[in-house]
Amino acid sequence: MDCLFCKIIAGEIPSSKVYEDDMCLAFNDIAPQAPTHILFIPKVHIGSCGEVTPDNSKYVSHIFEKISEVAAQKGLTDGFRVVSNCGVSAGQTVPHLHFHVMAGREFTWPAG
Ligand code: 5GP
Ligand code: ZN
Repeated sequence: MDCLFCKIIAGEIPSSKVYEDDMCLAFNDIAPQAPTHILFIPKVHIGSCGEVTPDNSKYVSHIFEKISEVAAQKGLTDGFRVVSNCGVSAGQTVPHLHFHVMAGREFTWPAG
C-alpha cells in the first residue's frame, strides 16, 4: 500500500521518533504548528477515525494511554491539544489514522 505513514513505520522514510512500541509510533511533525507537535499513529493501517471498529479500537485506547504518558514525561503541565482530522473536508492530508498532540502555545476554540 502506498501510505506515507506505513512507510514511516517500516523505516522506509525517516522520522524523528518520540516513542515506539509494538502497537504505535510517535514522531515529531515535519511542519510543527506548535512548539511541541507530535503525531501518534497505530502500527496497523487504519484510514481515519471513521474506520475505527471493535476489532481495531484497542490501538486507539493504547495510543491514548501513551499520549498521557508522553505528555507527563515531556512536562506538558500547561495543557495540550489532541486533534484527529477525519476526511479531506476536516483537513486530513495523510489517510492513516493519526493523533496530533500539540503544546507550548495558546490555542483558540473552536479550531479553524
Ligand atoms: P493531517 O493533515 O492529515 O491531519 O496531518 C498530517 C500531518 O503529517 C501534517 O501535520 C504534516 O505536517 C505531517 N507530515 C506529512 N508528511 C510528513 C512526513 O514525511 N514526516 C513527518 N514527520 N510528518 C509529516
Ligand atoms: Zn498506512
